[in-house]
Amino acid sequence: MPPLPFMQEDSLVDALLAGLARPIVFVDLETTGSDATADRITEIGVVEASTAGIERWSVLVDPGMPVPPFVARLTGIDDAMLRGQPSFESLAPALAERLHGKLFVAHNARFDYGFLKNEFRRAGIAFRADTLCTVRLSRALFPSVERHGLDALIARLNLAPQGRHRALADADLLWQFWQKIHELYSQELVDAAVKALVRRASLPAALPEGALDALPSSPGVYLFHGDDDVPLYVGKSINLKQRVGAHFSGDHRLAKDLSISQAIRRIDYRETVGELGALLLEAKLVKELQPVHNRLLKRAAATCAWQWLPGAPAPTLLRASKRDLSREPHLFGVFSSRAKAHAFMRHLADEHKLCPATLGIEKAPPGKLRGCFGYQVRRCLGACAGAESLADHAARALDALEHTRVVRWPHEGSVAIAEYDAGTGGEAWHVIDRWCYVGTCGARDGIAAVLADAPELRPFDADVYALIARRIASGELEWIACDARPSFSLVVQEAAMVSEKRVGTRRRVPFKPVTNVGQLGLLG
Ligand SMILES: [Zn+2]
Repeated sequence: MPPLPFMQEDSLVDALLAGLARPIVFVDLETTGSDATADRITEIGVVEASTAGIERWSVLVDPGMPVPPFVARLTGIDDAMLRGQPSFESLAPALAERLHGKLFVAHNARFDYGFLKNEFRRAGIAFRADTLCTVRLSRALFPSVERHGLDALIARLNLAPQGRHRALADADLLWQFWQKIHELYSQELVDAAVKALVRRASLPAALPEGALDALPSSPGVYLFHGDDDVPLYVGKSINLKQRVGAHFSGDHRLAKDLSISQAIRRIDYRETVGELGALLLEAKLVKELQPVHNRLLKRAAATCAWQWLPGAPAPTLLRASKRDLSREPHLFGVFSSRAKAHAFMRHLADEHKLCPATLGIEKAPPGKLRGCFGYQVRRCLGACAGAESLADHAARALDALEHTRVVRWPHEGSVAIAEYDAGTGGEAWHVIDRWCYVGTCGARDGIAAVLADAPELRPFDADVYALIARRIASGELEWIACDARPSFSLVVQEAAMVSEKRVGTRRRVPFKPVTNVGQLGLLG
């Protein structure tokens, strides 16, 4: 089906096309009859409108069955014309590609969409599209008018048919109708009517029917997989079915959702008793699977925090790969990289007229009297030049840092945090040690086994810290202390660190400490 590109010069058309959020396909089909299961398609006509312009194409299809005489008389398409034309099956892959992701507009859309879905199904392709019916649209925009058939629209709106009951001619009438309503009504009004009438495809094309029905309405974690079972996305919700549905039924304002819809092949899920369990499992799976569309959380090996010991003139940066940050005193901020830690400290210096040279994030000035560059331009109060005492400087800096103070792991060993589901009576015990998630069991007497089975952990998981620290310290969570603890490793594996680097998934994140845990009186 060769495309027939044709640009209209009309400025309304230009404005219409330029304003399209996504391409629209105006579709009309001719068929052997009106039964979408027994009858077959004989002709497909499509007018495609996109920011690239207008494209028209049509194709005759061998239906593999005779055309009833009364249909042949109406459309002018008879058996002789269809002999030797391609079958739908042979056209299906290219057609699916052409229609993919575009708004499907047809007059009495249920008919055309239903026929196409059935034909695609016979060809082994699951076809789904967001659809808009121009009969309904006409009814919404012209509520006092009784007739909304194509002939009525032609007469009432002065459309110019290029023929009738042939697919491309009828599809073109829909495109004319689309232009006409934009002449008659404001963009806002048309948009509102369209938004109310578009029927969203409930599922991405590649997912089997019922994929959503298989999900429970309970809390848990869901996983989207793409080709070759590549993990695309991990998410959590207190209602799996609802949340997963929302990914696909939205109007794809999020580029991520659209991109996931196109790539997804399979949905997997794990139920949890509550939200906390879902959050912990989500963080764990994101780290393990590194799905394409998850913002990579903290890379464990690069996690670091500033340590400012009492009496010291400046902080030093401690890396989680070298030190157990869960046990270190006087830590401030948790950062996912050295660069972010430095950017944060620089920002703090700017805000509070601290001295970057004295803080150790800038080279010390050569001559003691001149001071750092910031001092020259009055952005540093002069700890570097003797204009401010080091003690005063440190006191001001620590004041500014206090809100980022890291909560030390406040227990001798592990703790198990309880979570209950009042509805089902289910319970879960999440075992945490040194701000690491060890595992979950369904009853208290399972805790020992969780600890015994735990893999060797690297202490201080920044994600778990962010989820738990404030809540455990504030008494919001019910927990019990455990006797045993899993084994921890502080061995730095350079090779492993290199392999954790992933190209193309890193994003710029504003320099902010990962958490703001205030003074909680837990620091031993
Ligand atoms: Zn200075």
